[in-house]
Amino acid sequence: MAGYVDTQRQPKKRPDIEKTFTNLKQCASYLVFNDYYTVDDLRLVKAHTCKQHLLCPFCAMRRSGKFVAKNLPKVEQVINENRSRIPALVTFTVKNGPDLRERFNHLRAAHRRLNQRRRNHLNGKGHTEWSKVAGGITSYEFTKQDEGDWHPHIHALVMLDDFIDQKALSAEWLDITGDSFIVDIRRIKSNPNAGGLDIASGLLEVCKYALKFHDMTLPDTWHAYQTLRTRRLVDSFGVLRGVQIPDNLLDDPLEGLPFIERHYRYHHHKRAYDLQEVRHDVGPDLPAFGHEVRV
Ligand SMILES: [Zn+2]
Repeated sequence: MAGYVDTQRQPKKRPDIEKTFTNLKQCASYLVFNDYYTVDDLRLVKAHTCKQHLLCPFCAMRRSGKFVAKNLPKVEQVINENRSRIPALVTFTVKNGPDLRERFNHLRAAHRRLNQRRRNHLNGKGHTEWSKVAGGITSYEFTKQDEGDWHPHIHALVMLDDFIDQKALSAEWLDITGDSFIVDIRRIKSNPNAGGLDIASGLLEVCKYALKFHDMTLPDTWHAYQTLRTRRLVDSFGVLRGVQIPDNLLDDPLEGLPFIERHYRYHHHKRAYDLQEVRHDVGPDLPAFGHEVRV
């Protein structure tokens, strides 16, 4: 991706693209892991992260993992407060189209209208199946095949007060969008052993990558980044309001435990990481040896 962005820098240098390029090129070039061998826990504690999750698979992966860790306690708390609520995953789509900005605006407008219908219903005006949702976390996702159109859709993890009539919600969605009736509803099983999704997996579904990098060409990814970078792509409402987007993509170190420090550097020509240095017996009361390494 950095190679492609490099080709977009010339001939007229733009400061924003320069910054994007430099950040992307340096991202994850150096990684330091703490291996807490007494508890079998490996943590990424130092690295430069570009935080450009629409361009960078590394940051997208870290962001989704951190998102789950940060928001799972809140979701579990909401479930425990009212065990009669039904956790579910809902997907909304609109018709595919060639213009990403136009399709995104269309999907966002439809989503807002549906939420407005819910608020109206709660205020005693009109009816919507969506009012059975006590709260939810929503995210936008965008896919595209090589020569195909953009396929924007919304994933929502919701807490239902009552079962939604899927056919009725689909009819409402068609009424709002004018071009799509596709609404998928899947219940999240409270018992993962029953073969369903558990809550953590459900949350991960909602905050997977906003873009599917391996399905998209580099120019399409670059276009999506430029179109969507300033947009709010994750939101929450009702009993799940207050979703937190992780700002730090690293792991917190564990306190009071000995660890081995492992330093890795990425080699572009090898397309692989090399173990540069290992520092043994680093810990609260143990002297560190090995030399200081700048990250
Ligand atoms: Zn990155």
